[in-house]
Amino acid sequence: MSERFDLTIIGAGPGGYEAAFEAARLGFRTALVEKDTLGGTCLNRGCIPTKTLIHTAELYEEIKNAARFGIHAEPPVLDWNAVRQHKTDTIAALQKGIATRLKAAKVAVYQGSGSVVPGFFTAGKGQPMGTNPVSGEAVHRVLITAADGSVTTLETERVLLATGSVPAVPPIPGHDLPGVMTSDDLLAYDGEPLESLLIIGGGVIGVEFAGIWQSFGTKITILEALPSLIANLDRELSQSLKLSLKKKGADIHTGANVHFLSPAEGGICCTYLEKEQEQTCTAQAVLIATGRRPFTEGLFPDATETAPARETPPPMRSAAERDSDAEIASRFRVAMERGRILMDDDYETSIPGIYAIGDVIGTLPLAHAATAQGKKAVRHMAGKDAGNSCELVPSCIYTSPEIASVGLTLEQAKSRGIAARSHKILSSANGKSVLTMQERGFIKVVYEEQSHVLLGAHMLCARATDMISEFALAIQRGLTMEEMAEVVRPHPSFSEMITDAVTSVPMLV
Ligand code: NAD
Repeated sequence: MSERFDLTIIGAGPGGYEAAFEAARLGFRTALVEKDTLGGTCLNRGCIPTKTLIHTAELYEEIKNAARFGIHAEPPVLDWNAVRQHKTDTIAALQKGIATRLKAAKVAVYQGSGSVVPGFFTAGKGQPMGTNPVSGEAVHRVLITAADGSVTTLETERVLLATGSVPAVPPIPGHDLPGVMTSDDLLAYDGEPLESLLIIGGGVIGVEFAGIWQSFGTKITILEALPSLIANLDRELSQSLKLSLKKKGADIHTGANVHFLSPAEGGICCTYLEKEQEQTCTAQAVLIATGRRPFTEGLFPDATETAPARETPPPMRSAAERDSDAEIASRFRVAMERGRILMDDDYETSIPGIYAIGDVIGTLPLAHAATAQGKKAVRHMAGKDAGNSCELVPSCIYTSPEIASVGLTLEQAKSRGIAARSHKILSSANGKSVLTMQERGFIKVVYEEQSHVLLGAHMLCARATDMISEFALAIQRGLTMEEMAEVVRPHPSFSEMITDAVTSVPMLV
């Protein structure tokens, strides 16, 4: 007799486990299935280990440069084993916290690889539903295959797919050479700090890893195919980021088309085309950071193989009703497009009762977006007001200085036909920035010309990733620059830059 749940979630990353807490809070009998360790990419191979290393790198830089604050210290020595141990301990502490919270919320956690046998199918949204012709029942099943090969079957009213993503490696010849790594491999790297690292891809992962390794003394080269780093950012942010990385010694080539990688003395040689000229560069290791792809492997096994045994044969169906095996099999899979699962505004897929959120839907691959989407999907399942919390999602890049962005850039506002203006202030007049000797930074706000309603904020400065939430709240609530200026912010603080940014335009009367 298989256990029955109101909701079974596959994938225990920040999308899946936060959705489990929300489901438990709303009274759902909830199961959470995870093939690896709790926490998903974010905790095990993404945000948390990266930010742990970034914290170490920043501290290392600060100690090296402490003399400017009047502290003369011995040059700091990097104990690489201790650095790695701190990363491991941080992950373990947070995993323990998630496990404790899941236990308290009475979420049943299953260890193993989950796959879904939909209980009913539909040819598409609005099309008539049919009962699964193999299982004969309108209830979904989740099959969990444990490491020892044993299979547990759960019956479930609803399924939430939150299986995340994996690094996407383009078919560059030589991508499988020893020393060519993805971000997963580089985070697990247990050798001595690298002398040189070539990063293919100047997106978020590329620039964050560049910052970390640069601080540890590694010579960094970045090859980016597009004309700028992090192409979807406000242009001034990506230009300032490029300048900052270059100032610290990085060699950055944008508009670079990678041809192939080949073994070379002391590392790997990369041949690439830049401004129609063939160029080469050699590094001890290569990081491929060219994006991630949704992870759906094994999620929808072949229906005929996985259907549970029936005591009575399925009812006979007329020839007109009968589908071909291929058609039936295709209806057991949710609709997908280029590897990502398609869903509607409530995160429900083409199969009723099966929802998908996070990186596997490929719309906004950020941990906090997955969490917001998971909560919204669960509230929709429970018939509650789901809110609109997923429409405005801040983007943060943990470089030094930090970058954070929310809402529209000026170009985006104008392309939507909004009469908008932008205003920029520099961090050089901010007391806290000056006394802590921060690098040059700025905040740029975008606002509607007539009403002064805030539309976007884009910042490169210390604590940008914390301060961006104040702008997110203001944009979500439709506040004007004047309303934001009414808030009394502490002095001295980095947040005084927010007051500066929203007050130094002519006030509306
Ligand atoms: P990305 O999409 O941000 O950047 C990949 C970059 O690689 C792009 O600029 C692309 O033009 C470039 N590229 C692709 N193929 C190339 C080639 N053959 N040669 C040279 N350049 C090439 O992807 P990412 O940096 O790998 O990050 C993956 C995902 O993880 C992103 O969606 C990101 O949002 C997320 N992430 C977020 C954070 C954060 O929020 N701080 C941190 C890390 C990762």
